[in-house]
Amino acid sequence: MAQITAPKGTQDILPKESGKWQKAERIIRELCAQYGFKEIRTPVFEHTEVFVRGVGETTDVVTKEMYTFEDKGGRSVTLRPEGTAGIVRAFVENGLFNEALPAKYYYLIQCFRYEKPQKGRLREFHQFGLELFGAPDPITDATVISLPARLFKKVGLNNLSLELNSIGCKECRAKYREALIAYFEKDQEKLCPTCRERLEKNPMRILDCKSEICQGVAKDAPLITDYLCTDCHDHFEQVKDYLQIMGIEYQVNPRIVRGLDYYNRTVFEFVSTEIGAQGTVCGGGRYDGMTEQFGGAPQPGIGFAMGMERFMLLLEAAGITLEEERGCDLFLIPMGENAKKEAVRLTGALLDQGAKVQYDLLGRSVKAQMKYADKIKAACTAVLGDSELEEGALTVKNMADGKQEKIALSELNAEWLEEFCK
Ligand code: ATP
Ligand code: MG
Repeated sequence: MAQITAPKGTQDILPKESGKWQKAERIIRELCAQYGFKEIRTPVFEHTEVFVRGVGETTDVVTKEMYTFEDKGGRSVTLRPEGTAGIVRAFVENGLFNEALPAKYYYLIQCFRYEKPQKGRLREFHQFGLELFGAPDPITDATVISLPARLFKKVGLNNLSLELNSIGCKECRAKYREALIAYFEKDQEKLCPTCRERLEKNPMRILDCKSEICQGVAKDAPLITDYLCTDCHDHFEQVKDYLQIMGIEYQVNPRIVRGLDYYNRTVFEFVSTEIGAQGTVCGGGRYDGMTEQFGGAPQPGIGFAMGMERFMLLLEAAGITLEEERGCDLFLIPMGENAKKEAVRLTGALLDQGAKVQYDLLGRSVKAQMKYADKIKAACTAVLGDSELEEGALTVKNMADGKQEKIALSELNAEWLEEFCK
């Protein structure tokens, strides 16, 4: 039969790669636990309306990129293109605002967007993100930003720049919107068709357009930072103060507007120049109005999402290998029927003690088994044959330095192995 390939824009994370992913995820989970963020898991698909409300009708994600289909019951459902909308839906639906506030959640999920696949841009990809509800103070914004900053530092990624902006509140943006429309109207015909549409619906998003022509037209556009009201200006100044106290470097970039419709005040991105065109690894901001979009009471919210594939690309580009855990402490090489039975018994005891132990399943020669042990990177090996059974002892070999030690079967335990593997 003909082979079947994976759908365009998806990729298999094979066992030889998955260790790195697990290690990255473990570092992330530990950091979140340190900060007091708890994992939240929401459905992979939602009613389409969740994303229309939570991401915004005029966004690229909603207008062009969603995997939307009718299920057998005739409902319109969508594979999640991002994490925030579903979490805000869950926050309101489950009455989580009645629990301790601020609420601090993190997620590690798969997302789906119908995009043109490129390096760092897939149709199924992974995101790590945070959401924090119930805290309007600027100390919150800086704290949320500090988590990815600390993650990058921890793994040794030093060349990322943090770009920071404030897009103000509804009042600031109403004035800014007028100024932008007046500016872009002059050169309307030069803009790409999408941006011409944006001019009416959401002129700020023109600043985010990837077309070089639109970027050229936008070169001298008015800056949001000149239109902030006193409260928004103060809030922004305090976010910057806290970042400084935390020792986190940033650059104010008044052109960052972000994709979501519901952002207000602080927005930010961590950007790299080392992984090609898809250089934004992490983006986020404040979305104080979003709970209302889901029928909840108003609640301040702030969060970010980081693309895991881009994070892994960054590590690769920087030559950083996350130390993986040892896959196998001991590989037992039984020779003969009695030895196989003893191997099964011994392995069972060691597994119960927490050691990573495997034995041969194919009845191969010692040489072939040794080769296999080498391939799976077993830390130690031990041959178990008739003479070992008679003597009640075997010789364990450390594969890294060739060191050998004889030990009685009755004394071989996980603790001894751990010590010997070092
Ligand atoms: P871009 O401008 O690159 O399209 P975006 O603004 O659409 O990004 P967000 O919605 O903010 O991205 O998602 C947060 C992060 O998720 C991005 O910074 C990126 O690292 C990652 N990401 C987004 N879309 C994809 C994708 N199709 N494939 C891989 N990673 C992605
Ligand atoms: Mg995008």
